[in-house]
Amino acid sequence: MTVLRGLCASPGRAPGRAFFLPDFQMTVPQVSLTESEIDSQISRFDDAVLKSKEQITLLIENSDLSQEHKEIFESHLMQLQDPMIVDETKKLIRERRINSEWAFSLCVDSIKEKLQKLNNEIFRERAADLEDVANRILSNLIPVAEGDVRVAYLRSLPSDAILIAREIGPSLMLHIRTPISGIATQDGGITGHMAILARSRGIPALVGVTGLLASLKNQDDILLDAVQGILTIHPDELQAAEFYKQEKKGQSLSDLPVILKSKETISLWINADDESYAAAGNYEGVGLFRTEFLYMKYPDLAGNTEKETEIYSNILRSYSGKTVTFRLLDLGGDKLPMALAANLGQAMKEGYRGIRLLLHEKQILGSQLRAILRAAARTGTQPCRCRIMLPLVSFREEIEEYKKYYLNILKEIPDAPEVPTGIMLETPASCLMADVFSGCVDFFSLGTNDLAQFTLGLDRAGQDDSIYFQPALFRMIDAVLRKASVPVSICGEIASRTDLTRLLIGLGLRELSMSSIFLGPVAEIIRHSTLSECELQAREVLQAADADCVRKILERRS
Ligand code: PEP
Ligand code: MG
Repeated sequence: MTVLRGLCASPGRAPGRAFFLPDFQMTVPQVSLTESEIDSQISRFDDAVLKSKEQITLLIENSDLSQEHKEIFESHLMQLQDPMIVDETKKLIRERRINSEWAFSLCVDSIKEKLQKLNNEIFRERAADLEDVANRILSNLIPVAEGDVRVAYLRSLPSDAILIAREIGPSLMLHIRTPISGIATQDGGITGHMAILARSRGIPALVGVTGLLASLKNQDDILLDAVQGILTIHPDELQAAEFYKQEKKGQSLSDLPVILKSKETISLWINADDESYAAAGNYEGVGLFRTEFLYMKYPDLAGNTEKETEIYSNILRSYSGKTVTFRLLDLGGDKLPMALAANLGQAMKEGYRGIRLLLHEKQILGSQLRAILRAAARTGTQPCRCRIMLPLVSFREEIEEYKKYYLNILKEIPDAPEVPTGIMLETPASCLMADVFSGCVDFFSLGTNDLAQFTLGLDRAGQDDSIYFQPALFRMIDAVLRKASVPVSICGEIASRTDLTRLLIGLGLRELSMSSIFLGPVAEIIRHSTLSECELQAREVLQAADADCVRKILERRS
């Protein structure tokens, strides 16, 4: 029996078997062509080569690669012009009448075989480089979701699987279809997007589990305890029995309204990201719908306004009677859909993110706005209310430029209702300007995941829960609540922390938005608290000098 420790990214306990996420590998579709299909396959191949060249050039120009590494990528560019690859692939497409990815991989396999037979270190290295270039071209030819073997693997995991990986990108998370028992990763932090997605799907997850990959084998029996932060490998019988006893305790559900003992109502909302299901349970509406995950799930969504309209319409219908807040695409960091990566790399390098990036890439913004407004027109303002929220706003100019653009698009859409506009407050700049920005928008939502990063100077990927106790973050929230004259909600992960519920209410927040699994526990705390005790806690925290003081204040009443 071995016991490992990690950070609780999504709460829950589960017994199960270890399933290791396989390495990235493409499966190549094999299709025989008719005469008339040959030319279009050749131009698909030309496009993929061109796109690969652009990606490598961007990488060389914009990254901080050493000279030695730059030379490696320059050699990749040369390989993309090599007639042994390019002309030979086209010849195979024509002569054998096969699709471009099949022809290309046959061609690459035969060159690799020849290089390896030469039994010389330099040629062996060249074969490895060729593999890298080949993967790039293949990923530009095959929609990644379909070609990546990990996707098929994730879709077929059994229900007792506990998925084990060094790290799981958010785009892969979206392909977990069956309810699995849990996730454990060696790297990653609790505010990373893998953790957020695990929470919104109710999958127990541990991140930052030291020694995970070296200690486990595929199919090992494990107990995942993402309440205490423990992973047990090959548990003994006694331990397993104790574990099952704990597991049965379960969680309470929330009924509406959620009212403090002193009778004030607190409004609970959910964060969502997937159009396929509306979370069960009682809540006021969707306080944050992260639309970028739809783009990761459907690589063909960019520019496909009709498909996007259909998806937003389905979402509005499935949350019938509630308000849904669509946050416009928040691209950057670990949220960059493959389909947009090549075009947006340069803009991100220049420091554009969130709304600034969308204003720089108006065709993406326009397409998404049209889809949301058409969906709102199609489904009507009743029974569902739709709101739009801008990500990562910092400057007033960004809001004004957006609004001008929005009004123009609005004119194009017959019957489009006026949709309330809000902004995320997730930079210190926007928090400090909350009084001014109140005159520009209808509502604010505090995005404390990013706000903590920018306020405290911490990298979001490596965050553990020590950030939740820094008084500076609460002073920032307090500043917002004093300045704002429009409703302020909070949708960062701290809204789901039961140890912070009273503090957030005491600071003045009345709307909390969180993954649906936390609704019950948060409602329970609210029902057992009075406003005056929440306010006392907030006053004390605002006077605290450091995280230790904050912890002690919170522990006094938990
Ligand atoms: C946040 O930053 O707090 C937030 C809710 O947005 P995201 O986690 O998607 O960056
Ligand atoms: Mg954010």
